[in-house]
Amino acid sequence: MRSEGCLDESVLQELAAGIAPEGTLEQHGEHISHCDRCASILKRYLSIFSDEVTPEEQALISQLKSSRPETQRAIVRKMLRATIWKERFRKFVRWLKKPL
Ligand SMILES: [Zn+2]
Repeated sequence: MRSEGCLDESVLQELAAGIAPEGTLEQHGEHISHCDRCASILKRYLSIFSDEVTPEEQALISQLKSSRPETQRAIVRKMLRATIWKERFRKFVRWLKKPL
């Protein structure tokens, strides 16, 4: 059930994909941890996106080998961003599982 403060499904989708604007998780994390609706939508998208992370990174790595330097830099930035996101997300999952 949607309540006041609930996030749009598109925002939850961006969070799960790791493309939400900076600060979104900090701003809404507490709400999600207390809201069954938002948490369940986020988990649903996460189960979709989590399977895609590793092959995507493998594809980026294979691109790295054959790219021009400027393309390589862009790929490295993308990978770093994905890595940072995953680390932040692991912390968030631990936080979600914390007994209230
Ligand atoms: Zn909510």
